[in-house]
Amino acid sequence: MYALQQAKAGHAGAKEEVIRLDRIGKRFDGSEVLRDISLHLRKGEFVSLLGPSGSGKSTILNIMTGLEEADTGTVSIGGQIGYMQQKDLLLPWKTVIDNIALPLDLKGRNKKESRALAESLIDRVGLRGYEHRYPGEMSGGMKQRASFLRTLIASGEIMLLDEPFGALDSMTKSSMQQWLLEVQEAFGLTILFITHDIEEAILLSDRVYVLSSRPGTIKEELGVDFGVGDKRSRLVDPKLLKMK
Ligand code: ADP
Ligand code: MG
Repeated sequence: MYALQQAKAGHAGAKEEVIRLDRIGKRFDGSEVLRDISLHLRKGEFVSLLGPSGSGKSTILNIMTGLEEADTGTVSIGGQIGYMQQKDLLLPWKTVIDNIALPLDLKGRNKKESRALAESLIDRVGLRGYEHRYPGEMSGGMKQRASFLRTLIASGEIMLLDEPFGALDSMTKSSMQQWLLEVQEAFGLTILFITHDIEEAILLSDRVYVLSSRPGTIKEELGVDFGVGDKRSRLVDPKLLKMK
């Protein structure tokens, strides 16, 4: 069905780069967590960072977004980033709809219009009926979907997603994977997707960086060649996955 091959870097007509990390190194309390991490994303690419727990995947995103500082190396980012962190950052005292619309409120946008936009996306992640609940009243998977929408609303053209579908059951996960590819196309997003799930990385990505741990370092860069047809043909038929 698909084949993995060594990615060809810098081929003719390549799109502009929107993210580049060059030789990033990082230690925490003297122990080396990242060594010599170099990676790039071109506009419109879907790239996965695949690696075992503790290999430093979340730390790489934290360095990209300035939450952590690298000890060595350089980061360049060309565009507005939305970051969905691995930990749950929904505000417990706000309803789901208010959490989703929060980035727009912070930008001072009209409250009615932001709610309308958030409302229009609710159905797409199966959260209809839960708009006025609080995070404490929802499952882990529902909270992930709400966080995902909030990140989408905050994103300019680049989304950094740290194991966004980790807490979902496999039906909902398939449906969200399908939806993510549609959203990527509709909004022209560049996506860096973190996962420890090999199958998920292969299903969704144009390229995959494979990390090994202790210290986290890039072992391989793979291009995913899915042969004939649309990338979405790799996923389960969405008609089979109608969410309630
Ligand atoms: P992954 O996301 O791949 O599971 P992390 O980036 O979360 O890995 O963590 C990589 C390593 O760095 C782990 O050993 C973790 O305990 C350590 N680590 C991450 N953040 C910190 C921090 N702020 N202080 C100390 N150690 C940290
Ligand atoms: Mg992590």
